[in-house]
Amino acid sequence: MIDLTSLPNPQRRALDIVKEVAAEKNCRPFLVGGPVRDLLLGRQVIDIDVTLEDGASTLARSLARAISGRVRSFPQFLTYKVTADGLPEIDIATARKEKYRQPGALPSVTAGKLKDDLVRRDFSINALALDLTNGALHDPTHGERDLHDHVIRVLHDASFADDPTRIFRAVRLAARLNFTLDPHTDALLRTAVAAGALGHISRERVWREVFLAFDEAEAPRIVQSLHDLGALDILFGARPSDPELHRRLEAVRRQADADPQLDREVMFTAALLHGNASPLDVEGSGFSQKRTRNVVQIANELPRFREGLSEARDDRQRFSLLRNASAEALSVLAASAPAHVAQALERTREAVFSGEIEASDARAFARRVAMEYLQKDEGGRMTDDGQPAL
Ligand code: ATP
Ligand code: MG
Repeated sequence: MIDLTSLPNPQRRALDIVKEVAAEKNCRPFLVGGPVRDLLLGRQVIDIDVTLEDGASTLARSLARAISGRVRSFPQFLTYKVTADGLPEIDIATARKEKYRQPGALPSVTAGKLKDDLVRRDFSINALALDLTNGALHDPTHGERDLHDHVIRVLHDASFADDPTRIFRAVRLAARLNFTLDPHTDALLRTAVAAGALGHISRERVWREVFLAFDEAEAPRIVQSLHDLGALDILFGARPSDPELHRRLEAVRRQADADPQLDREVMFTAALLHGNASPLDVEGSGFSQKRTRNVVQIANELPRFREGLSEARDDRQRFSLLRNASAEALSVLAASAPAHVAQALERTREAVFSGEIEASDARAFARRVAMEYLQKDEGGRMTDDGQPAL
């Protein structure tokens, strides 16, 4: 029996109210997909996804009334979103059946039974439903067994061809949960990538999945796997394997986690495109011109930048290189620079961000800060007039 009392308070309250309203209205709601998986794993549940065979609109509207919330309707997905202050967003959907007319095309959707709704899903561990009226678990594809075995399994052989975004979902979920792909699923995934399945969906849809990967705590591992599988070739062309990729991705994760103001998407993208980026690579990403320039600068110019830094004859030359660097570029650079330079860069970046200094003053500032560190490191090199030698 699934223990709903282990849920955090807002989620528990949301389900209690769903149950109450459903009883009043004689509806039969099921908690489905991700939240059931996460409940069974004892992981934190965030989204509340509810499915019904009948009465989704009645439940959605009555629920919104009961919690003084708002309801938005998405007829193409047979879905309602109910929101209210202090409660998680509650998705209420009509159970649906899907048909894929062509690989990669969006499916045609009709109302269906609960079981139809479960077997159209991506993986067995997501094809689970919890009957909120009696606590029974519906598990037509042995998802509970796969949860127990820590395995990601598709429900049929055409799954990745039907919807190639599942290639990304499989890699993401495996890394997040520390699960492995069932061997047959793994073979299907590799076959789908090799057969060019990702060419059947738009670059925009691929980018959306890539951004979801960047958001994960395990982003470096996920992005590395996607790269190794060739799932990113559709965006960037086939690229030689790169022994430094993982180290760069880890560095980006560390920096982006430490400073949420940094543009995580730009930094991860630049780490991927290291040494060979063009604006064409980010087509479909939705990056503005400015962010695109930042990606290209970090990916292409940083290696030269780094060389310039180490070859510079003096600190004046060294820090004149900083003038046009973005906060993200400075951060990436700092991750691999000698310690005193790194500290100066880091301090500069913070100062630009906090508004302490203008970007245009960054150079002078960095010079001053670096000088302090240099003095610490080397006992200081001063000119005759006692001024720092910068
Ligand atoms: P997360 O914690 O990332 O939200 P999730 O499993 O809830 O994980 P969602 O993207 O919120 O993922 O999707 C909700 C559910 O819808 C999934 O659990 C899965 O059952 C189903 N689903 C989502 N995307 C697909 C897809 N491309 N193909 C089939 N089923 C999908
Ligand atoms: Mg979800």
